[in-house]
This record gives sequence, C-alpha cells and structure tokens, in this order.
Amino acid sequence: MEVSFHEEIESLKLGEGQVFRGEGILAVTKALLQSGVSYVGGYQGAPVSHLLDVMVQARDYLDELGVHVEACTNEAAAAAMLGASISYPMRGAVTWKSIVGTNVASDALSYLSTAGVLGGTLIVAGEDYGEGASVALERTHAMAMKSSMWLLDPRPNLPTIVKMVEKGFELSEASNSPVIMELRIRACHLQGSFVARDNRAPAISTRRFLAGAAEFNYERLSHPPATFRQEKLKADVRMPAARKFVRDNRLNEVFEGSEPGVGIVCPGGLYNNLLRALQMLGLADNFGHARLSILVLNAVYPLVPEEITAFCAGRRAVLLLEEGMPEFIEQDIATILRRGDVQTRLHGKDLLPMSGEYTAEVIVRALARFLGEHAAHLDTSAGMRWLEALDAARTRAGELLGAPLPPRPPTFCVGCPERPVFAAMKLARRDIGEPHVSADIGCHAFGTFEPFSQGNTILGYGMSLASAAGVAPMMATRPMAIMGDGGFWHNGLLSGVAANVLNNGDAVLVIMKNGYASATGTQNVVSSPLESAKDLARGQSSVHTDRTIENALRGLGVKWLRNVYTYRVGEMARTLREAFATPEPGLKVIVAEAECQLERQRRIRPILARLLGSGQRVVRTRFGVDEDTCSGDHSCVRLSGCPSLTVKAASDPLKVDPVAHVNNDCVGCGLCGEVAHAAILCPSFFRAEIVQNPGAWDRLLNGLRKTVIGWLQPA
Ligand code: SF4
Ligand code: SF4
Repeated sequence: MEVSFHEEIESLKLGEGQVFRGEGILAVTKALLQSGVSYVGGYQGAPVSHLLDVMVQARDYLDELGVHVEACTNEAAAAAMLGASISYPMRGAVTWKSIVGTNVASDALSYLSTAGVLGGTLIVAGEDYGEGASVALERTHAMAMKSSMWLLDPRPNLPTIVKMVEKGFELSEASNSPVIMELRIRACHLQGSFVARDNRAPAISTRRFLAGAAEFNYERLSHPPATFRQEKLKADVRMPAARKFVRDNRLNEVFEGSEPGVGIVCPGGLYNNLLRALQMLGLADNFGHARLSILVLNAVYPLVPEEITAFCAGRRAVLLLEEGMPEFIEQDIATILRRGDVQTRLHGKDLLPMSGEYTAEVIVRALARFLGEHAAHLDTSAGMRWLEALDAARTRAGELLGAPLPPRPPTFCVGCPERPVFAAMKLARRDIGEPHVSADIGCHAFGTFEPFSQGNTILGYGMSLASAAGVAPMMATRPMAIMGDGGFWHNGLLSGVAANVLNNGDAVLVIMKNGYASATGTQNVVSSPLESAKDLARGQSSVHTDRTIENALRGLGVKWLRNVYTYRVGEMARTLREAFATPEPGLKVIVAEAECQLERQRRIRPILARLLGSGQRVVRTRFGVDEDTCSGDHSCVRLSGCPSLTVKAASDPLKVDPVAHVNNDCVGCGLCGEVAHAAILCPSFFRAEIVQNPGAWDRLLNGLRKTVIGWLQPA
C-alpha cells in the first residue's frame, strides 16, 4: 500500500484557464502533460519522488492520454529509456535524485548526449544540495558540462517552473541535446499557483503507434566513427543552437533596479534566498522589488555571452551567487568578460564561502561586503542589526546549554523493523568482536548514528558488499555488509552479490527486507508484496511467490542463506554469531524480514479506525516500564534507540537518576521486550493490551482483575 495521491491526480486534469494550486514538483508533473510528453520514467529519491509516485498512480488517466509511465529499477535504466527520443520525434522525461542518480545514469547519459535527440528529452533532477542534503554534496552542473547537456535552474515560483519545463523540451529539440532541469528541495515543495493549459495527447503514444522502426542510420549510434562527427556537432551546432534558443526565448531574466553601478548575477534556484537577503538589508520590498539590478540565470549552462556582457557592461562591479565548488559559472563569466574586454569587477567566491548552502544569512554577509566596497552610499544598517540579533541569539543559546547546540541527526521511525537488527548486532559483537561494517544508502544508514554507531564506509546505493571486497582478504574476521531491499535490486545484486560469488568471496551480508524502497517514500521494488486492487485486477496474485530476494540469491549460487524475523532479537543475534563463526566458505546472507513500520501503520490505521467506528472490538499493544523496578541504568535505551523509549524523572524521591519511560507514540513493535530478554536486562518492561469497544467477557475479566488487585493492594 502506498500514499494515495487522489487529489494530486485530479489537479493534473485541469484544463485551459483553470488555476492549478499545489507544490512545485506537482506543477512539473502537470507541465509534462501540457508539453505532450510520450513517456515518463525515473527512480525515486528526495526531493522529486512525488513526480513518479503521482504518475504511477495516475496510470489510468495517462492511459487515456497515451502516455507511458515506467518505474525504473535504477537511474541508469531511466536514462537509457530516453534513448527512445534518439530516433523518434517523441518527447520523454525522466526524474531522479541528483547527484547520486546522475552518477548512476552517467554512462547512458554520455551515449545519449553524444548521439543527440530528435524528440525533446528532459531530466528532472532533484538537486539535493545544502543543509538538508542526504547525499554527497556535489552538483549536477559538472555532469551537464562534461556531456554537453543543458542545465536549467528555474526561479522557484510555479509559473517559471512550468515555463522551464515547456521551454526545456523546445530547447532540447532546437539543439538536439538532452536538457536537465535541477530543482532544489525548496523549489520542489514550494506551494503556489499557475494558470493551467490543456494537456496534450502526444502525437506518438500508446494509443497512436509508430508506423514502424526507424530506418537504420549509423549516424544516430554513439559508436565510432559516428562519435567523431557527433563531438563536432556538440561544439559547432548544438551548443550555438542552445545559446540562440536561450537568448531568443528570454529564458534568463533581468530585473532592473535603481542602482546603476552594481548588479547581481544569480542562478534561478537561489533567487528567493537573494530576495530575502535584500529585504533584510532594506534593499527590497515585500513584493520582490529590489534596488539592485539582478540577472537571473534560469539557464545556467550554457551561458549566453551576449547576455552576460550586456548586463555587466557599464557597471562597476557584479556579485555572482554560486553555491558549491568548483565555481563553474564564475569561471565561465570571467572568461566571457575577458574575451569581451568588459572591465567590470567580478566578485563571487572571494566574498562568499566556497562550500555550503547560501542561506539568506550567508548572502546578507556577502552583500554587505560587496556593497561596502562598491556602493557605500546604500544604507545596509537594517541587515547589520539582523545579523547582530542572530549572533546574539546563538551566543545566548550556547550560554544556556553550556555548549554549542548539539546536532539532531535523523533516526529510524518508532517501531522500525531495522532497529532490532542493530540491537542484535550490538549484542553479537560481544562474541564476534568488531567486524568491519560496510553501510549502505537507505533507512538502515541510521544505524551509523547513536546508540548503534555501526558502519565504516558508505559508498553508494547498493554498494556495501562491493565496498567490502578489498577489506575481506586483509582481515581475519569476515566483514559485514548491510543493504536494504531497495539497494539490493538497485545495484547490490550485481555489483555486490554477483561479484562476491564470482570471486569466491567470504563475507556476511544482511539484507533488510522490509518490502519497499522505504527511505524514498515506500515505493514498490521487484519483491514488494502486491496488494493493490489494481494489481489484483491485472491478474497478479496478492503475494509474489517467485520474485523474491531469496530466489535471486539462490539463482546466483548463494548456499548459506537464513531468513530471520527482525524483531526476534535473540534469534537474530544467534544467526549473526553463526554467520561469523561457520567454517562454510562463500557468502553468508541473512535476510532480515519484517514490514516497514511506517507502511504498516499506514495500512492498519484506516482499518482500525473503521473497526472502531463500527463499534467492533480493537486491541492495541503497548509496552511500558514499571518505574519501581527500573534501576535507572538505561541499558535498554542504549540497546534500542527507539524515540518512544525515553526517560522521565522518578517519582520515588530516593531515586536520583531518571527512570526509563515509554511514551504514547509506542506502536508495540515488541523490541523492548525482546531486547530486555535477549540482553537479560532488569524485568521492568511490561506489555499491555489496550482494548477498545470491550465485549462482555473483557468487562467481566477486567472486573475480576480489579477485585483481585484490590485484595492484594490494601488501601
Ligand atoms: S520508513 Fe520504514 S524502514 Fe524506514 S525507518 Fe521508518 S519504519 Fe524503518
Ligand atoms: S515496543 Fe519499544 S521499541 Fe517498540 S515502539 Fe514501543 S517503545 Fe519503541
């Protein structure tokens, strides 16, 4: 079961003149349909997961339009899907999280951009850069440059985002090149509105077939000797065509201010932060009118030299805002100004940090220095007062805490089935020692945080076992790799398991089989249980019997294979010990199985609500701590890490330490009891059953219990 996008799907059907309201990434989805896209694919990942999630659920409507939607197994598959537009004049769009997804896709992207495209191709890349990032901090810009793909970075407002989608396809067709549109997390989740247009049923579609396969044309293959000509085309034809399109269609925008001497060049994605900074400095009003002139680069690659020189000529200095390193845009602009003999001073990384997100605060500090040097007559004292207030608040917080604010890393959900595996590993370590642990991308990466602190490396999605290959031969103890079912199907099966089997490797692999690609929003993977009505209507059974991780492992020749229910901590610890101790050669795989708790709760809560509403008996399980028994040593907290298992002040005045306490968020997963048992902790945990809509038997039992307890506890 997945999140329902019923309302979002309805907004995709809006027609000419109707007002679309919603978030940025949904506006992109609508714009794809308005652009007459023939096919859409991708691999989920923040912040663009919604695009594909909504499309997949909107299959019935897309079938009406003739649009094909494919949930790809990784980004490389999605990029390869764009190959349809090399030979056929049909538009295609794919989406993934960048930079990681673009890395995975880069092989296919090189070939795609070399061959060139007939139909427009648009890659919607979730640019996961900045303070909320969850992957390596790199930028898509480098990938666009190396493969001669054009990069759009729209100003975060819905009309601009929609325009860039529509123009992106046209740009791609005008220059025969793929176009990437990068969207930061704030652009994806920004709320707004735009006036919709009718959706366009594509000319080539699942309803209007191609007449036949394209004629054989060697020039469309990215294969030597055709590649030698294609490289020349990139430089001599496609790049100039792209620049002409960007200029003629005014993709970049100039907002003229009243200060003629200075200006700011800003990639579109940073525009809102820039305006906020100018507002704090007293140089912009609440409606976005700024005193400084701003060149907004909605197309950051390629730059149009005439636009840059026209904006800079006649100004004393310009400041460029460009997050991250290297400073590609700054180098590009510096070259354009030098070649154009424009003498304007260019500031950028000399005033701004080389790394890190450019928040309004960072921009205010840079602007203050820039204006102090080149426009000292402007009053920026409001910004200085704001910065002083921020600094004072930080200092005060530090004084109150006696230390800097501690970081608050994310953690597993309450009741997550992956937490018990790390608890078991903590127990097993007492016997097996401290093996090298290769962590992976996914919810299980939270096992690298306290209280588990397990993991020596993270090398990419599904890459944990592969990253242990160089370690294993150098160690007496087997290394351990952890991956999720998402990572297993994305890359782990081939890069990890097949490579290990091929090389007669000896390692322990734990696969978290929770049923979904949970970290990206619980999308289905190959081995997910099928249960939607639609799946059943298509004649698929409710559970896969053959598309299993275990079958894939056996097919590759894995002999040592165990399946353990994750919440059985004692059994999991025993199986881990066995995997590390067995003399059997080859890969040892433990499939740690239990459904993602987030997904489970989504599934059962509506069912429970319906039962309660109809007056039926519902029993919920909760755990608790008897504070009289709790010794206050918090071993359980150090072994569990569940946010629901916390501490509170003891009501017994003789107990100085806080006692363990289970709060109301507990979903009764059972880990507390299992850990207490497996680690032989104090017997303070109890399991309670909360009965709602009790029957006559429940009431009778309750009365009896109360009576007996009353006898035992005299007033
Ligand atoms: S989403 Fe699922 S697998 Fe991920 S932390 Fe939450 S419960 Fe665990
Ligand atoms: S039983 Fe323990 S680990 Fe499970 S949800 Fe409740 S408090 Fe958390």
